[in-house]
Amino acid sequence: MRIVLVGPPGAGKGTQAHVLAKTLSIPHISTGDLFRANISQSTQLGLEAKAYMDAGKLVPDEITIGMAKDRMSQPDAAKGFLLDGFPRNLGQAKALDEILADAGIALDGVLDLEVPEDEVVRRIAGRRLCRNDGSHVFHVDYNPPAQPGVCDECGGELYQRTDDTEEKVRVRLEEYHSKTEPIIGYYADQGLLVTIPALGKVSEVTERAIEALRGK
Ligand code: ADP
Repeated sequence: MRIVLVGPPGAGKGTQAHVLAKTLSIPHISTGDLFRANISQSTQLGLEAKAYMDAGKLVPDEITIGMAKDRMSQPDAAKGFLLDGFPRNLGQAKALDEILADAGIALDGVLDLEVPEDEVVRRIAGRRLCRNDGSHVFHVDYNPPAQPGVCDECGGELYQRTDDTEEKVRVRLEEYHSKTEPIIGYYADQGLLVTIPALGKVSEVTERAIEALRGK
């Protein structure tokens, strides 16, 4: 399956993508994780992306699209993938259409996670990520690790993202409303969109997601 996940920052895209990718046996491709890996390895791409990310702004398309395309062309993505955080504006959505058309493939569905804004801010403020694998995501209250500061899945150190402050979250939400939300209509027009409420337990949202994607 080829799926795109959309939803505001803090909607739980990373958390759901991690579980869904395992369940569906497809790779989880997160542009945010790819940028963070580049930053921690101090690559040229990481250096270019860092200032935008730290400000809560979208990284320019010239950087993002090439990186996403490279990742999608890896052998493990040949049979499908779950895109998390890409596309994030209409230009990227159209670029993705071209990439897929050139490869003779198409998306199966676009899953939109809906969450009220005050919940988004609460989720992000308590979010903790694993240094070893950014898709191991916890929350100090809603999904706490067994041992504070330690990843349940691999024992890695948990940390808080530098853009997970309330001030940066506001900027990220503005970016989401002005730039990312238009892609929801774009995919609805193509009959690809399924929207689910992303409130409740992680496992409940996963069940809703699988049910919504069934038949796609
Ligand atoms: P969240 O969904 O919680 O905002 P991500 O890890 O997906 O977190 O993204 C973090 C940051 O990475 C974004 O604020 C943005 O700066 C950058 N980023 C990720 N994906 C994209 C993209 N497709 N286009 C532009 N910037 C991106």
